[in-house]
Amino acid sequence: IEAVRAVEPRIADAITKELHDQRESLKLIASENYASPAVLLAMGNWLSDKYAEGTIGRRFYAGCQNVDTVEAVAVEHARALFGSPYAYVQPHSGIDANLVAYWAILADRVEVPHLRRFERRQVNDLTDTEWAQLRSAFGNQRMLGMSLDAGGHLTHGFRPNISGKMFDQRSYGVDPATGRIDYTALRETAREFKPLIIVGGYSAYPRKVNFAALREIADEVGATFMVDMAHFAGLVAGKVFTGDFNPVAHAHIVTTTTHKSLRGPRGGAVLAQPELADQVDRGCPMVLGGPLNHVIAAKAVAFAEARQPAFAAYAQQVVDNSQALADGLMRRGVRLVSDGTDNHLVLIDVHPFGLTGRQAEQALLDSGVVTNRNAIPRDPNGAWYTSGIRIGTPALTSRGLGVGEMDQIADLIHTVLTGTTPTEGSKAKYQIDPALADRVSKQATELLAAFP
Ligand code: PLP
Repeated sequence: IEAVRAVEPRIADAITKELHDQRESLKLIASENYASPAVLLAMGNWLSDKYAEGTIGRRFYAGCQNVDTVEAVAVEHARALFGSPYAYVQPHSGIDANLVAYWAILADRVEVPHLRRFERRQVNDLTDTEWAQLRSAFGNQRMLGMSLDAGGHLTHGFRPNISGKMFDQRSYGVDPATGRIDYTALRETAREFKPLIIVGGYSAYPRKVNFAALREIADEVGATFMVDMAHFAGLVAGKVFTGDFNPVAHAHIVTTTTHKSLRGPRGGAVLAQPELADQVDRGCPMVLGGPLNHVIAAKAVAFAEARQPAFAAYAQQVVDNSQALADGLMRRGVRLVSDGTDNHLVLIDVHPFGLTGRQAEQALLDSGVVTNRNAIPRDPNGAWYTSGIRIGTPALTSRGLGVGEMDQIADLIHTVLTGTTPTEGSKAKYQIDPALADRVSKQATELLAAFP
């Protein structure tokens, strides 16, 4: 850190402070974790300095022998970890992985006159007329994904993301009575809408998904079945989600991030059936630039870590902790979407406290509890203010906290939510007694001190 400080002290300070903040507060953001020192160190080195566009053994640059080794080892571990015939580890993030997958499916499924001619050429060299032809040739393709308020992700065909511009999108949601996916309604929508792609996976759905059932529906309507397992990849790797609930066993193509429950570096990956492999390999240069070789090295380390028996125990503990947290909250009268959880996350409905998600998120933050607000099914407060708080256990489980600590955390969250008063007429402002926030914050720090 001193080398950084000598050049730009403000960056050194921010890095050091981030370490402090992550140590001292209850990190309950469902998409975060603590990567191991081995993962972090594999990322912080000179592999970053190398250009290596292309695929293993077939690069557009010379001198890629070490990068080839790194990428081949990462692919080997990813395939073995998930039991997948093919893996692509270059995507820089989850969004990139989804874009790579969407393009691969389009290129595989959609007949486009002269597509091969376009693909062989640099995208930048296409004329305006050729672009117009390409757009119209791919136009009106349909995607069926989970609705945002039921827990789907922006990249599953929603307007603020390019996927919403590439595809005509329709959503499936949850049964309002149970908060669980309504598979019958999903089947009916798929029959009527006839999508090219059905996307499974979520950012904020607290239950297991029956991927075998989704594949059956996809087969019935002739759709390619893709699963975005960004959030729960660690639970798949740790064999908590098996059989009908293992996406890799049922989907044609699976995308993931590597930094959430999987506990690797920030990044993405794609797993696919062999028939899609050639198209996925074109991720660079279609969607990606030169690979982040240092991050791929860190992915290899993380995949290798996840193949150890200790990771399976970790993944099971993540779910045990999540269920203990859910039980602790419900015992104290807190309403949860779907009345519980099967995975790493819990979605609290803060409406009964008279709060918006935004007010609750800030009040918890004042008290040293880091969460994020999230829409709940049929959310009356929309996607900005929301009525939910999403909490997840991957990070605290990495620190060694167990079910006993989860009950104490449920108590802290309940104390903050009951002690927060919304300001009349505002969806953002609130009051919390500073002494109460301070007391909860100290209790959180004391709890964490036992798990350095
Ligand atoms: N897919 C899902 C389901 C996610 O939850 C996220 C992240 O929140 C992403 C994709 C995007 O990942 P990234 O932030 O790495 O682009």
